[in-house]
Amino acid sequence: MLYETQRAEVAEKALGLLTSGLIVNTSGNVSLRIGEHVVITPSGRDYRTLNSGDIAIVNLKGDLIEAEFLPSSETPLHLAIYESNPDVTAIVHTHSVDATAISTLLDQLPAIHYQMVDLGGAVPIAPYRTFGSKELADVTSKALQGRSAVIMKNHGALTTADSLEKAFSRCVTLEWCAKVYLRAMSIGSPSTLSDDQMHLAKEQFESFQKKRATFKPT
Ligand SMILES: [Zn+2]
Repeated sequence: MLYETQRAEVAEKALGLLTSGLIVNTSGNVSLRIGEHVVITPSGRDYRTLNSGDIAIVNLKGDLIEAEFLPSSETPLHLAIYESNPDVTAIVHTHSVDATAISTLLDQLPAIHYQMVDLGGAVPIAPYRTFGSKELADVTSKALQGRSAVIMKNHGALTTADSLEKAFSRCVTLEWCAKVYLRAMSIGSPSTLSDDQMHLAKEQFESFQKKRATFKPT
């Protein structure tokens, strides 16, 4: 079977979205790019029973390469992001509760925690467009530029990375930040981090990354 390992990974992460509470039913989708091809969750299939053969393969133009079921309704969104971000090879999209709640209230999720360095800083909220439309793909991929997370107005959240593991973890971080922000807002006006503070946090992350890589057990 073509891309069996990658399709199995997509099916596993789709189930992971469900079991971790990031989505209910099938309200999210997952994809991986392999060269000119994209493997993506199918539309309206129960994620609890997905297997690798249920994951569709399309090319970057959206033509079907191999598919047992209709690919996700948000396939145009995934393809638009891959097209404008050559470094991105994995995308996770959810309707997670707190990010979606934030999407109805704000124009961006401000930098309220240093962990948002991993998302590219404050997370923009793309304008509302009909789900599955080219218009949604256009406004969302535009808002995402230079970042690895975007919130879609009255819709949900989306993260990108160079691996599915990382894109998934960014979705968890984004949802956690949205939760923190909503909780803080329920009591007062949350403070935010400046660009300088975020820049210093980024340098600190990079420094610890180097330390981990060169660490010698004693
Ligand atoms: Zn959606």
